Amino acid sequence: MRAVDIIIKKRDHYQLTKDEINYFISGITDGLIPEYQASAWAMAVLLNGMTDQETTDLTLAMANSGETLDLSAIAPMVVDKHSTGGVGDKTTLVVAPLVAACGLPVGKMSGRGLGFSGGTLDKMDSIPGYRSDLSKQEFLDQLSRLGIVLTGQSADLAPADRILYKLRDVTGTVQSMPLIASSVMSKKIAAGAHAILLDVKVGNGAFMKTLEDARKLAETMVAIGHLSGREVRAMLSDMNQPLGAAVGNALELIEAIDTLQGEGPEDFLEHCMVVASHMLLLGKKAADLDEARALAEKTLKGGMAWDLFRALVIEQKGDVSFIDHPEKLPTAPVVFEMQANRDGFISQVNAQIVGETAVDLGAGRAKKEDSIDLGVGMLVHIKVGDQLMKGDPLFTILAKNEQAAQAAALRLAESLKWADQPVEPLPLFYDVIG
Ligand code: URA
Repeated sequence: MRAVDIIIKKRDHYQLTKDEINYFISGITDGLIPEYQASAWAMAVLLNGMTDQETTDLTLAMANSGETLDLSAIAPMVVDKHSTGGVGDKTTLVVAPLVAACGLPVGKMSGRGLGFSGGTLDKMDSIPGYRSDLSKQEFLDQLSRLGIVLTGQSADLAPADRILYKLRDVTGTVQSMPLIASSVMSKKIAAGAHAILLDVKVGNGAFMKTLEDARKLAETMVAIGHLSGREVRAMLSDMNQPLGAAVGNALELIEAIDTLQGEGPEDFLEHCMVVASHMLLLGKKAADLDEARALAEKTLKGGMAWDLFRALVIEQKGDVSFIDHPEKLPTAPVVFEMQANRDGFISQVNAQIVGETAVDLGAGRAKKEDSIDLGVGMLVHIKVGDQLMKGDPLFTILAKNEQAAQAAALRLAESLKWADQPVEPLPLFYDVIG
């Protein structure tokens, strides 16, 4: 078999066999297939798609490209969650400690930013010393001791995804249903959780732009999860506008800290409570959603989720003084306030434009070896449906210099649409699958 023939076959719209997919994925993993061929293949998949069978074969090949964990010895039920990627999506930072504080162990391996969407690990990097490179043994030990782990994808688990993920980020090959489904589910299967809550984002700031595509992605991932014997549920959640207010690494961490302390933005808090409730239900910690919600609310209000988040940071060698005093976290030298230049109703805050602006400010990567600026980003003070008066705050931009702030302001103005008549707010969720 030759890699180039497999690329050509996909380029010419043919279905790949299981053997071809296994060959290609093991070649990527062993470094025998170079990055340029892997990138060309990813582009062919993006353009021409895959059948359900190919997507399942790809997921299993990636899950089996390294070790797979068996968490049954740690606890009878370990839960995990995964978002398909959005703008301002710092949900894991809140729901992982919240659910774990309710007594349901959470073992989570997170990723870095991808395209215009942020990544949990980049946010946690704002805490000096925080280790997101735990070994498999450290992952298992900490999960059994503390009931929560929030680390990077261990080198041993789904290494093919780690390689492809970085390449896709910088080759325009993120937005592909089979590549997203296999990326997410290979990691989830390899990481061994018994129950998995998938937060499938839909809208202009998500990789799936339409409800139809998001539903198809959700159904594909749920089906793959069931085939692997996992409890899986997928929520379709809105990403037509940023989630919460903060977009940018340290800014999002601060918003998560506020939320864990009961003070986060209303939409983000509600999003977290719904996601946490579904995780608790999936992990059989509650008999129904109302009971799950009541447990999550009691735990958040009682401060147990915040306490566990602190314990997590300490356990993973982060300097806890930075979350106790978030003013110590990275920030930016230039702070620019953007105000409304008219009266009216907000009918759009385009999340993709906001996410791209954050990347341009330095919060994300343009090339895979780029380092990111943890302090830059923006606070979004508006939601679709808000009625504003001229002079009301729109965005607070944090930039490394004046020029970057001005460029961001111009771009952010493009993210907005105004109406003269009242506009319906956007829903947080559209559906639950599985
Ligand atoms: N999250 C992932 O882990 N992979 C993707 O491809 C997209 C979102």
